[in-house]
Amino acid sequence: MGLIIRSSAIHAAGCYTTTAIRKGAHVAEYDGPRLSKEEADACYEELPITYLFGLGDGSIVIDGHCMAMFINHSCDPNCETEEVDGRVWITAIRNIAPGEEITYDYCLYDGGDDEAVCNCGAKKCRGTMYSREEVRRRKAVAKKALKKKRGKRKAGKTAAGEIGLSKRAAAPQCV
Ligand SMILES: [Zn+2]
Repeated sequence: MGLIIRSSAIHAAGCYTTTAIRKGAHVAEYDGPRLSKEEADACYEELPITYLFGLGDGSIVIDGHCMAMFINHSCDPNCETEEVDGRVWITAIRNIAPGEEITYDYCLYDGGDDEAVCNCGAKKCRGTMYSREEVRRRKAVAKKALKKKRGKRKAGKTAAGEIGLSKRAAAPQCV
């Protein structure tokens, strides 16, 4: 299997295959040092964009140092992520032709104030890289915050921001 990184219409750089990939094949492993969520938050607090991948319940994250970190999000992807024994595989969910960009649905869940706007260009684009559950959760939080704001006009504070995680861009190694 040949994977290359080159410029992408979705995001600055993307991962492309030079060979045909069969449905069900492991395309790449999302690999890198494992950090606790607290360690990752401390490392990347100041950076708007990171290459982190939450494992399991999100208490452990992979600090991506691999080919897979260049794979872009799409709302109509050709791959999905699969967690097997603590390892994360990017697996093809359909046959992929040579030259196609590899994509999977990020289903982000911990982005703080970040809108995580999606520009994937898919017909079914949901406009954000957050998972459907997270979109619902965020809407509920925003609604609650609005109510609170109305109730206490002088308080001057809206919903508490979380620390951003799980978005992409170059981040310096932090060890
Ligand atoms: Zn999209």
